[in-house]
Amino acid sequence: MENKVLDLVIVGAGPAGMTAAIYANRAMLDFVILEKAFAGGQITNTYEIENFPGVKSASGFELANMFREHVEHFGVNIISADFQGIEKEDDIYIVKTPKQIYKTKTVILAMGSDYRKLGAPGEEEFAGKGVSYCATCDGAFYRGKTTMIIGGGDVAVEDAIYLSRMCEKVYLVHRRDELRAKKSLQDKLFATENIEVIWDANVKEINGDEFVTDAVLINKHTKEETKMVVDGVFVAIGNIPNTVELKEKAIMDEGGYLEVSDELETSLKGVFAAGDLRQGTLRQVITACGDGATAVFGVEKYV
Ligand code: NAP
Repeated sequence: MENKVLDLVIVGAGPAGMTAAIYANRAMLDFVILEKAFAGGQITNTYEIENFPGVKSASGFELANMFREHVEHFGVNIISADFQGIEKEDDIYIVKTPKQIYKTKTVILAMGSDYRKLGAPGEEEFAGKGVSYCATCDGAFYRGKTTMIIGGGDVAVEDAIYLSRMCEKVYLVHRRDELRAKKSLQDKLFATENIEVIWDANVKEINGDEFVTDAVLINKHTKEETKMVVDGVFVAIGNIPNTVELKEKAIMDEGGYLEVSDELETSLKGVFAAGDLRQGTLRQVITACGDGATAVFGVEKYV
């Protein structure tokens, strides 16, 4: 395999990467798709998706499985490999993984993004011991308990609603006095009795013994500190694109999102970016899938 030059290497098997694989297969490109963890990416943490046409309602895990089965139905094998960057030699890209390299004419980067951290004292110490980044993964541990969600976006609000179904009490802590989340989610949030929204507050520290026991909030205007007794703290403050391997190679913005052309080509000719790791406005399953298709269109023209 090491001397063969592929048409395309797709890095990441989330919605963008898996859609790219379906399109690349139909375009009869000679390609591989690499994934470091499991197929599906971030959507596997979403408990309900009801805005993907043709799928009235499914968990992210179910939708990810449908994508994977679709890819595998075409005989495509998702290779388990951790992406470690790319190098260019003449007109060929070398995609590096711990076990082997892949030589290719083009690359589609679809590695998505990871959870943003608060950076508060105690966050790292109690990760997995009361601090979580995924309500759908860990919510069941907090049945009948009191939890706190940090954030004001769609994910924080969705997670608060999800947790309210199993927790006795849920606090949603936001650093401003206005939520970023869409109106329909806000309506559901405000209509849920056991959710209390705490405005204009930041987390000063997270405390505990073996597990989390409380979090100290600080009001951004009055600087007043309040100790909140909670069993769990869920951090839902957005994501950071997985583009660290491309630093100083491809042009990206301050947030690490890759700059792309209309055809999703990065500043590296023949290297395309699809999904959450590229600059853009909407970051949803549907837009990631659209990106996967568009990127393959660009690859076909390039090859
Ligand atoms: P997001 O929309 O970027 O929201 C992040 C939230 O965290 C913001 O409210 C932000 O506050 C807050 N925040 C950021 N850094 C913080 C810090 N250091 N301390 C405290 N708060 C901080 O991220 P997201 O909610 O993860 O959503 C990501 C994308 O997925 C969005 O485009 C969203 O629309 C999409 N999504 C869609 C659906 C759906 O359609 N069903 C579901 C989930 C996610 P500020 O508001 O003050 O900036």
